[in-house]
Amino acid sequence: MSDFLLRMSEQPAARNLIKSIGLPTPQVLTRASGGYQAKPLSGKTALFGAAAGGFAGKELEKLLGACGATVRKEAGEEERFDVLAFDATGVRNAQDLRALYDFFHPVMRSIKSCGRILILTGMPEAQDTAAASAAMRGVEGFTRSIAKEVGKKGTTANLLYVGSAAAERIAGPARFFLSPHSAFVDGQPMRVTTAVTAPDRLDLTNTLKGKVALVTGAARGIGAATARRMAAEGAHVVCLDIPADEETLNATAAAVGGSALPMDVTDANAPGAIAKHLQQNHGGVDIVVHNAGVTRDKTLANMKEQFWDMVLSINLGAILAIDEELLGKKVINDHGRVVCLSSIGGIAGNMGQTNYGATKAALIGYVAAQSGDLAERGICINAVAPGFIETRMTAEMPFMIREGGRRMCSLSQGGQPEDVAELITFLGTPGACGVTGQTIRVCGQSLIGA
Ligand code: NAD
Repeated sequence: MSDFLLRMSEQPAARNLIKSIGLPTPQVLTRASGGYQAKPLSGKTALFGAAAGGFAGKELEKLLGACGATVRKEAGEEERFDVLAFDATGVRNAQDLRALYDFFHPVMRSIKSCGRILILTGMPEAQDTAAASAAMRGVEGFTRSIAKEVGKKGTTANLLYVGSAAAERIAGPARFFLSPHSAFVDGQPMRVTTAVTAPDRLDLTNTLKGKVALVTGAARGIGAATARRMAAEGAHVVCLDIPADEETLNATAAAVGGSALPMDVTDANAPGAIAKHLQQNHGGVDIVVHNAGVTRDKTLANMKEQFWDMVLSINLGAILAIDEELLGKKVINDHGRVVCLSSIGGIAGNMGQTNYGATKAALIGYVAAQSGDLAERGICINAVAPGFIETRMTAEMPFMIREGGRRMCSLSQGGQPEDVAELITFLGTPGACGVTGQTIRVCGQSLIGA
């Protein structure tokens, strides 16, 4: 769907005109095309710093080099940077937070458009003093705030909370956040732990080679984009959607070299039929993406019973039933990944969406509750919460609500289905083995529910 301001902002003359009348001039985001690169920061310059006494700086610095960046520890006069990366795992009290000011303040004007800021800190809940917990939580406030300052340039800032034994696991998440694959993920904290056993092999490219992924609701929108992205990473994608959309579904499946599974996820026999299909045709499944979802919006007083039931059963009931079958029968392979599509509506609630909000919030609780039991099989389960994404769903909104939704985020624009697909795909990779039980937003740092 076309975003008039974004298109106009691409032309310097029009950009100045838009600015002069006080309208936002969103930066066209640099996005990745295709699969992961071994050296995503090739040709880029990164400034690296660390607070004294931290435990993840060595890994972070090494990673910047391995990604192909020219790494500086001091900023030269008028030097400009693509990446600012800071290890704040050593920040343990209020005074230590000064290290953030000292590192970032002098170079805030030196970061390029569509740049990346990545900050690491320790786990607040695992500290032995309240001062250390407070300081580490303070790093999140700093990251979210700095993201709001740099967003107008298309630059993002994100945070990794790193467990004390998990420094080696930052590579996957850090590569994602530092690359153009994370263009619309902004102002987000992600936790990296050793809760889940790590796989033996971690490839940098073709990360899903030999893997089988099931994507529900794959005929169009975010599901189709996810099927394309996972296939580009080497996966065989089983694309599922309702039988009424079989033609579109077949086209999506054919385009990604995958297979089509026409089925309504709410059918009583769907869990058994899906399990049988995956077992018989593929010997199991490695990644399950619960993407199929619907809205039927009405204020609660006006909501018909059937719309409540329909949204609850597609967006939540079907997911629980399918997982019960796939996990119970061990159709999901060890080191598998499950990703559920939540929404910022599930975080903040939304007028006219009591049914939808209930389901999307339930999924946040579901992944958190399931993660513990699945950890010993090496399975990670997470949720992705999209904000305003340019799809059929948002195209149907009234003009003013749509414009508001687009602009009320740090990046001043809506995301693309591909942006959501990028986050889902990252969470499906072996490199995401440190990330489980979490809900990560892909919303350009939306103000809703922030
Ligand atoms: P979409 O309407 O474009 O696609 C959803 C797909 O799910 C459709 O192809 C549909 O046929 C399929 N589906 C619906 N019911 C089904 C059923 N019973 N069985 C099998 N398939 C079924 O939607 P989208 O915008 O791509 O959204 C995908 C997911 O992301 C949904 O869960 C949605 O709630 C979530 N989400 C979207 C946005 C957004 O801005 N688009 C924001 C937050 C969350």
